[in-house]
Amino acid sequence: MIAILARGVSLREKADIVRFLESEGHRVSVGTLDGETIVGVLGPCDDGLASRLAGWPGVRETRRDVPPYALVSREHHPATSTVKVAGITIGGDDVVVIAGPCSVESEEQIVAAARGVAAAGARLLRGGAFKPRTSPYGFQGLGETALRLLAIARQETGLPVVSEVVATEDVELVARYADMLQVGARNMQNFRLLAACGRQPRPVLLKRAHMATLDELLLAAEYVVANGNPRVVLCERGIRTFETATRNTLDVSAVPVLRERSHLPVIVDPSHAAGRREWVAPLARAAVAAGADGLLVEVHPDPAHALSDGRQSLTIEAFAEAMRGLRRVAAAVERPIAGGTERLSSACP
Ligand code: PEP
Ligand code: MN
Repeated sequence: MIAILARGVSLREKADIVRFLESEGHRVSVGTLDGETIVGVLGPCDDGLASRLAGWPGVRETRRDVPPYALVSREHHPATSTVKVAGITIGGDDVVVIAGPCSVESEEQIVAAARGVAAAGARLLRGGAFKPRTSPYGFQGLGETALRLLAIARQETGLPVVSEVVATEDVELVARYADMLQVGARNMQNFRLLAACGRQPRPVLLKRAHMATLDELLLAAEYVVANGNPRVVLCERGIRTFETATRNTLDVSAVPVLRERSHLPVIVDPSHAAGRREWVAPLARAAVAAGADGLLVEVHPDPAHALSDGRQSLTIEAFAEAMRGLRRVAAAVERPIAGGTERLSSACP
């Protein structure tokens, strides 16, 4: 349930409303939208509470038709949210491209990747330090060493960095180095990890699990927001279906559906969906055409020798080429792609 407060409601009235709801055992979120204060009441509400609240001084209207992910729902916050990552806005006028290798492997590799993707127009650098690998024998990531190397690459290029956190006990460490924390598909329902990401200051990139519905993704986002961190970006990265040609099936419909249900920005990862570099650019174009606020693309200076996900990683040259096509699609849907030294020479028609 949400309560929309009267315009001009006093601070004392607001505090009274919150105290009342908390005394009834509810968790409460307070937000403002276009000068209106909206109080979200988390958890189930009975008719009695709804009618008492409707008559409370300062309450203009109560609405019970909001979904269980009250805080991330459009109903709660009709305007699309923007999420700032170290000065880069996701969910604004531009499509924001995040690119870089699956895993950070060495200083040479991550700095070369960072320089290449920055020149081609990426606004943020990705790179895994802690890798959630299906096999225990797969490369598990360089841990804190990788985080230090990401900080060097950031220094070299000015690109803020995104890195995955796989364990609750690492949240503080990853947040110390990275500008944005990624929660990967395999941890989308690791609720304690989500809560811990809610209690730290960095924005969170939350990826949809292979087998999760969009409502489950939104409930996962709700965990982060309900624990105190409103800066969440949703990411569609392909789901498991009967199709085996691709690594996962990119659910392009996630973009319009999530945009309808939630105010959070939505980005798409075509790399983990495709599983093959040949298909990354067309899926990326489809995502931008469908209205995605950004993309997450795996790029490696030498994909043939990558320690993880080389088969789906673009070379720096292929990424630059993909960006040229993307700029044309982005222009067609009136969402320019800012950034990159190639911007002017590859301007869209
Ligand atoms: C990744 O981004 O490298 C990754 C492991 O992604 P996902 O969680 O979507 O599989
Ligand atoms: Mn990967």
